[in-house]
Amino acid sequence: MGRNYDIAVIAGDGIGKEVVPEGQRVVEAAARRFGFSVDWKEHDWSCDYYARHGRMMPEDGVEQVRGSHAIFLGAVGWPNVPDHISTWDLILRLRRELNLYVALRPARLLKGITSPLAGRDAKDIDFVIVRENSEGEYSSAGGILYQGTPEELVIQESVFSRRATDRILRYAFELARTRRNKVSLATKSNGIKIAMPYWDERFAAVAAEYPDVEANKFHIDILTAHFVNHPDWFDVVVGSNLFGDILSDLGPAVAGSIGIAPSGNIDPTRTNPSMFEPVHGSAPDIAGQGIANPIGQIWAGAMMLEHLGELEAARAIETAIETVLSQGGPRTRDLGGSAGTIEAGKAIADALA
Ligand code: ATP
Ligand code: MG
Repeated sequence: MGRNYDIAVIAGDGIGKEVVPEGQRVVEAAARRFGFSVDWKEHDWSCDYYARHGRMMPEDGVEQVRGSHAIFLGAVGWPNVPDHISTWDLILRLRRELNLYVALRPARLLKGITSPLAGRDAKDIDFVIVRENSEGEYSSAGGILYQGTPEELVIQESVFSRRATDRILRYAFELARTRRNKVSLATKSNGIKIAMPYWDERFAAVAAEYPDVEANKFHIDILTAHFVNHPDWFDVVVGSNLFGDILSDLGPAVAGSIGIAPSGNIDPTRTNPSMFEPVHGSAPDIAGQGIANPIGQIWAGAMMLEHLGELEAARAIETAIETVLSQGGPRTRDLGGSAGTIEAGKAIADALA
């Protein structure tokens, strides 16, 4: 029996429905070349589904995907459904119920892409953001006192458990061992007086378990400046939910474009399937025209295969993307070309074959 993977597919809305088939096309090409097979199980959960059923996914949706090896997600969200409903009822539910507590975003400048940072090339920008994705600043603890009076007072609590803090830090150090052995912490212990000294302390404690990995920390404000001025300083960057969120958009932006960046929502215990998607959204402004860039989705496919242990296939997909981009192959309009989504996807699949 060869290696076979069951993948749940949620193409979602807008350009998600256009780029997911290109991601599948390239993963299929990799499967043929590297001798494994993929069974795709498609789910039409989306804002269209919401219009028909009054919810984004069936009640037992999470159970339907729990047994798969991974989830391949396009984009979710459309103007007919408020963002907080579409996100909460589908993506956040999957993240929460599948314990996907790591949000992983590579910031790597591909060959053939121009960084907005003048003079930087592919050797300078190659780092990964590890974001704590289960608690922290994005809590619902707090409230409003004396509402509507001049004394109005708003309190929003952040929640950091030792369990969640240690496990994300450990993930970052483990990841660094597979890369360039360096972890940088985003902190703000000079301003956030209880929580961030705690992060500093846990960071030092976990770092002591990894003497072979270089550990350093930066306050979030200067860290954002360093991303722009010294992207070559970074390998793995770890932060709380809020800091990680901010860095997760900045990182891919310095690496060229949010439109080509991938993202993983990971359960490192491998109890549940992890979920892979492009960073971009459903892009209603260009949906239905066949012009969306499929690279973010294709690169997310490479991340998915890496997570499944198909390292060679993952590397080969990344190389195929870079080959097409750096050898003048078809590229979409957002990258200054004129190719459509399908043409751009086929070129990468052909380069892989
Ligand atoms: P969300 O809130 O769902 O994360 P958003 O509404 O903030 O997303 P996107 O849907 O990502 O943003 O779109 C932002 C801009 O980037 C839009 O102008 C869109 O057309 C463009 N864009 C996004 N993804 C792509 C892509 N794959 N190819 C080309 N352009 C894209
Ligand atoms: Mg949006």
